[in-house]
Amino acid sequence: MANLLEVQQATKQFGNFTALQDVSIQVPKGSIFGLLGPNGAGKTTLIRIINQITLPDKGSVYLDNELLKPQHIRDIGYLPEERGLYKSMKVGEQALYLAQLKGLSKTEAKERLKYWFDKFDISHWWNKKIQELSKGMAQKVQFIVTVLHKPKLLIFDEPFSGFDPINANVIKDEILQLRDEGATVIFSTHRMESVEELCDHIALINKSKKILEGKLTDIKRAYKSNTFEVGLLTENNTDLYTTLQDKFNVAPADFKTIDDQLKMKITLDNNTSSNELLQYLSDKGQVMRFNEVIPGVNEIFIKTITENE
Ligand code: ADP
Ligand code: MG
Repeated sequence: MANLLEVQQATKQFGNFTALQDVSIQVPKGSIFGLLGPNGAGKTTLIRIINQITLPDKGSVYLDNELLKPQHIRDIGYLPEERGLYKSMKVGEQALYLAQLKGLSKTEAKERLKYWFDKFDISHWWNKKIQELSKGMAQKVQFIVTVLHKPKLLIFDEPFSGFDPINANVIKDEILQLRDEGATVIFSTHRMESVEELCDHIALINKSKKILEGKLTDIKRAYKSNTFEVGLLTENNTDLYTTLQDKFNVAPADFKTIDDQLKMKITLDNNTSSNELLQYLSDKGQVMRFNEVIPGVNEIFIKTITENE
């Protein structure tokens, strides 16, 4: 798939401190790309480079195969980490102003704002001043302004911080819908909860360096260990556990059941297929649970960072 955005070996120093070192990323068209990493990793620095707010010391950025230039600002919708709206301006007035800065006519801007304000059920905020809104409310307004001109690339820097779980979900659903309508999305986060359901691609940045990048399913495949979570209903649990240990690599598992199942995690070597295990188990009792253990993004995040320390 073609890439909408490519960053090639971007480096950024602040004085003697290297905030970003030779970081390259490739963001496929139509993807939701998660820029992950702990606080201070360099995510915002990279995002500011893509938005031409910060110039890299080295490296280049391509949007749609063109070297990044000032005109590209119109093609990008950017929600900064530091949300800034003019506190004393009225919500509607300010949204209209910002929309027109993005190149929309006043009529167009009004129409689209009405759509979004209705959608978020916030039309009654129109004449409120920004300072009357809570942080989360102001963030909603800023989200709308970011996506309003339908740019082909959307960049959200820590979009969920400042939102309660319900509103974070609303934003998550909107991001998915914007992707379905053709946008490419990059978002950064230091918290892994929202990543699984959203991203199809990720890059992991730690201490100014990229340490992992790729399609999420490929990364998960590479990190899985051929381990199965098994629940077995049998007469004689204790004996069976010992028998299984002779044959397989068995560890206790922890999950809830409504009956007295033997709960295990079994890791197979490369020569044993899951069918063999299943067959073996079904001879010993009633198989109530049999599923492959897929590593979560959080696990991958911690493992990769620890390995790279
Ligand atoms: P992240 O967004 O991943 O939390 P940042 O990109 O904001 O990280 O910051 C990376 C590092 O660069 C941090 O240690 C931060 O203090 C430093 N940094 C960022 N911007 C500046 C700046 N303008 N001047 C000096 N140091 C900076
Ligand atoms: Mg940041």
